[in-house]
Amino acid sequence: MNAKKRLKSLMGRAADAFGLLTRDFSSTMVIVTFHRVNDQMEPDGITCSAATFETFCRFFQAHFKIMSLHQQIAGCRSGQNTAGTLSITFDDGYRDNVEIAAPILRRLGLPATFFVVTGFIGTDYTAPWDAHLARPPQWMDWNHLRSLRDQQFEIGAHTDGHIDLGTAEPAAIQADLARCRAKLQAELGAPPRLFAYPFGGREHIRPASVELVRQAGFECCLSSCGSVNGPVADPFQLNRINVGGWFETPHQLGMEIMLRRA
Ligand SMILES: [Zn+2]
Repeated sequence: MNAKKRLKSLMGRAADAFGLLTRDFSSTMVIVTFHRVNDQMEPDGITCSAATFETFCRFFQAHFKIMSLHQQIAGCRSGQNTAGTLSITFDDGYRDNVEIAAPILRRLGLPATFFVVTGFIGTDYTAPWDAHLARPPQWMDWNHLRSLRDQQFEIGAHTDGHIDLGTAEPAAIQADLARCRAKLQAELGAPPRLFAYPFGGREHIRPASVELVRQAGFECCLSSCGSVNGPVADPFQLNRINVGGWFETPHQLGMEIMLRRA
């Protein structure tokens, strides 16, 4: 662990001992993102081990009221205070989500939402960000997604082609969103309601794209801007924190949340 991360981890542990983390979290609505939970791969910015994932989940359980993303959204839409809640999400649709993460979530009794790139599902496509890997990880197929759905997990949309909604033409965005929705509807029997945009930085979306997401029929639009949300948030302006691999310990994450809000 590098020195900065270790220091923040120690500060977070001290803050936790004095109850400061719980007090700080009680005024935020947090959405965390993971990508891969995989012991066969080296940890990196989007990969963590099964043990690390479980450690984070137990920290979330101890410090937040964990609810499903759609419960948080319902709270936002009705103007309810969602402070102190946290939801767990996954992006892209890696196969380890169903094979490794889902059993851990079930064992701990935790809900989660899986945002999938419909064009990747059931293919052996290698994403550009995985091109350097000797053995690129596999995607889920539609049976995996039906299994997650049947286990009461939520399936959300993450576009059909992992396009950049900050630069794509409006017509291309509309066509991609329509394809993505049609595939999810056909394969899972219901249209998706939840949407997280690819890449997730502020530069990867424009207000006009958010409007297209709304017009396509989605109920929310999530970034990966690395921030938390206020207790009464706009469902189309929700921030998420990418946890998997990025933060080495839950206390480091807790300290980062505190510092970013300070
Ligand atoms: Zn993605």
